[in-house]
Amino acid sequence: MAMTAPELHLKKSVAQKLNRPITIGRVAHLTKPQPWHTALGRATCQFRNRCSRGCPFGAYFSSLAATIPAARQTNRLTIVHNAIVKEILLDSQGQKAKGVRVIDQNTMEVREFYAKVIFLNAGTIGSTSILMNSKSARFPNGLGNDSDQLGRNLMDHHLSVGARADIEGFEDDYYFGARPNALYIPRFRNWGNDKRGYLRGFGYQGGASRADWSRGQLKRDSALILKQK
Ligand code: SF4
Repeated sequence: MAMTAPELHLKKSVAQKLNRPITIGRVAHLTKPQPWHTALGRATCQFRNRCSRGCPFGAYFSSLAATIPAARQTNRLTIVHNAIVKEILLDSQGQKAKGVRVIDQNTMEVREFYAKVIFLNAGTIGSTSILMNSKSARFPNGLGNDSDQLGRNLMDHHLSVGARADIEGFEDDYYFGARPNALYIPRFRNWGNDKRGYLRGFGYQGGASRADWSRGQLKRDSALILKQK
């Protein structure tokens, strides 16, 4: 996905002045679908930035758009509905996952399913709680929780922590659509010779685009905040 003109200007300035790279964000949207994508019914992203409502084009990667249709095409897929995974079952030695125990959300019936390979893809909180529920003699504190870190130190995005401004210039530049993506500055702190007093680091996301109808409201809100101060 392309950067806008002010973003390219920022990229150049940040490289020159701060020696930091700026890239386009890393998203899993199709900009050039390949035959194996269209075979699954997926199409090019329409650049309308409405991904949070679900994508009727299957343009961003999701299990609903990509992996489940691919699995269905093998004719060896069985989808079990209303089944809430309670825990992962271990083999008799208590070393290896061999299945899952599920509870039917309507009837409360408990069933077990077995497989050679099990993927746990329930999201940060869901996967963690399932692992913590999966207790055994080998893992009395939850599956894979020898470190006792399961359920601790969960990390989320800080959202809207930063700054915004109007940019002058670039009036003759325009771009196509509403790009469903942002800029990314990977590893801004604790990178190269920049060593701080904490482990690891953080990146930044951001972007520059034309203002829309809400610009008047933003200016009004900013003026109110300044007045209150
Ligand atoms: S912007 Fe998002 S919702 Fe719209 S087509 Fe692209 S991926 Fe789908």
